[in-house]
Amino acid sequence: MSKARFCKVCGFEVSKHDPNFGPGDICMCCGSEEGFSDDIVYANINNLFTDSLLQEVGITSDFIEKYLYEVMKLDGARKLLRLKWIRDGYKWRYESGRYKSESWDKEALRKQLLNINVAIEDYNI
Ligand SMILES: [Zn+2]
Repeated sequence: MSKARFCKVCGFEVSKHDPNFGPGDICMCCGSEEGFSDDIVYANINNLFTDSLLQEVGITSDFIEKYLYEVMKLDGARKLLRLKWIRDGYKWRYESGRYKSESWDKEALRKQLLNINVAIEDYNI
């Protein structure tokens, strides 16, 4: 059996959907594309995230100005993508119904996030 792989943003077991899931593939659950969605340059950050979201992770306009042409570290980029997805109601991006749990709720989300060692408690929902 091959090793299970998880979306680094939402924790969905992407290898269930595609055993060869990797960079360039889009997560059915949160819609992130590894290696693309998480490749964020500070100069573009205001187009991707709202001020309140940036405030929540402590990214100030001074900080953005200072690091304008630098690429965000992956952990930070994924955290921001995750926060955005959660704040938008953690909806399934592609509702095939095949992989979504029957009761997709906060508890199901909590369990899914544990796949990537993320505690739902850190997201204040
Ligand atoms: Zn995902």
